[in-house]
Amino acid sequence: MREWFDIKQIDDDTYVISEYGHTEETHCYLLQGSERSVLIDTGIGISDIRKITDRICTLPVTVLTTHAHWDHIGSHASFEDIYVHADDIGWLRGHFPLPLEAVRNMIVTGLTAEPEGFDRNAYHIPVIPYAQTMRDGDVFDLGNRKVRVIHTPGHSPGHCCFYEEDRGYLYTGDLVYKGRLDANYPSTDPVQFCASVKKVSELNVTKVFPGHHDLDVPASLIRKIRDAFASLEDRGLLYQGSGLYDYGCFQINI
Ligand SMILES: [Zn+2]
Ligand SMILES: [Zn+2]
Repeated sequence: MREWFDIKQIDDDTYVISEYGHTEETHCYLLQGSERSVLIDTGIGISDIRKITDRICTLPVTVLTTHAHWDHIGSHASFEDIYVHADDIGWLRGHFPLPLEAVRNMIVTGLTAEPEGFDRNAYHIPVIPYAQTMRDGDVFDLGNRKVRVIHTPGHSPGHCCFYEEDRGYLYTGDLVYKGRLDANYPSTDPVQFCASVKKVSELNVTKVFPGHHDLDVPASLIRKIRDAFASLEDRGLLYQGSGLYDYGCFQINI
């Protein structure tokens, strides 16, 4: 049986850890520094990502959370040093907005490969009372590289992107990827989503690392999504229930 996680090295000290056995195709990113490492998100929770980071890292690992949706926090309970934006922290403290059974169903129905040893009844939404908060502009210093928090609400209230200015790397979570961008359920805000895409479009980005699907995302996709949102805004369509808008390699679901 093949390993659940697919690991790809992006450069000397950066890895993407992907879950292609599930339709979400979630990506987590491991950034190694000279003094500590950062793991951006911990995946779906079908398999424990800690066994991958233990294999690659000898330094302590800090987990940064793009947002507290179930498909990004699955292995949070395996780590001790965890940060999330204050506006999403309630979901990590036991107030997740969906019932456990609904999440279990989404995990199981999205499976496209047989996960080794996964028991749906043993799955629980992680509760992390010790998670710490981070805010817009905070910088995590890894020794020889720095990661800046960019608060980008809309998909969730506390959604954040992470930016490495020195490399031009932007880790975009569920704000920018090729696929259906969701701003259609109660905890989302399409107006904020629009403003957040505009905010990251002003950064100097050479590489985009998305939270889902195709890893080949040109920086120009940020501007395309920004312009699509701006045109929906101009047409007065940024309200929930407004519709699903198709732009080829991405869709906006409001
Ligand atoms: Zn999400
Ligand atoms: Zn997601």
